[in-house]
Amino acid sequence: MRRKIIIANWKMYLSTRDAILLAGKYNHLKSPHKVILAPSFTALSGVEKTIRGNGLKLCAQNIFWEEYGAYTGEVAGLDIKQIGCEYVILGHSERRKYAKENYETVNKKIKLALKAKLIPVVCVGENLRERRSGHAWKVIERQLRIGLKAVDKKKVIIAYEPIWAIGTGNAEDPIDAERMHTHIKKHVGKGIPVLYGGSVNGKNFEAFLTQKNIDGLLVGGASTKCKEFTEIIS
Ligand code: PEP
Repeated sequence: MRRKIIIANWKMYLSTRDAILLAGKYNHLKSPHKVILAPSFTALSGVEKTIRGNGLKLCAQNIFWEEYGAYTGEVAGLDIKQIGCEYVILGHSERRKYAKENYETVNKKIKLALKAKLIPVVCVGENLRERRSGHAWKVIERQLRIGLKAVDKKKVIIAYEPIWAIGTGNAEDPIDAERMHTHIKKHVGKGIPVLYGGSVNGKNFEAFLTQKNIDGLLVGGASTKCKEFTEIIS
């Protein structure tokens, strides 16, 4: 199997202390894949110190679209880069739902991320209603069109995350996911990595990783379970 990209999205599941402890456990594992940890902001610095020099990479879960300024409660991409992050997740459906983000703001964040020399992991995905009405591809196409407007697509990673599959235990069928990834690659370019996310676990990960156009995984819940994530990455 060729080398894939596997991102552990720890969301707000773990305390800072637990995130550093968990990073310490993954530290010594050998993986054929590129493994990237995305702890919450407060844990970034501690996790960076824990994984430094050991091959694991660091990712933030969000940034703001301006460099610096009067934006109370926001976090600057340049600071994230300085801490040691190489990647940033943008447009996750939970941010679209709880923080009311949209693809216009995601577009601005992608541009700032690139300016800060971070690699944006841009999330796209349809909800259940859109899926059932047969509009999934149209929805994704629109998200990509707005989100990547005037962006150099060669510098981003796409994560296809059907909203109905996130945290539900109801993963997409790997063959259907492969179909959607093929569509996405037609739109953004063949060489752009497209990851799958949505209820990946220790039982189903291989069926995704063996698909030709699935370049890796964005793993939420299962990435906080040491035994299960160890299986996935090794
Ligand atoms: C995610 O939130 O990016 C995700 C894929 O979550 P889960 O694996 O828990 O479905």
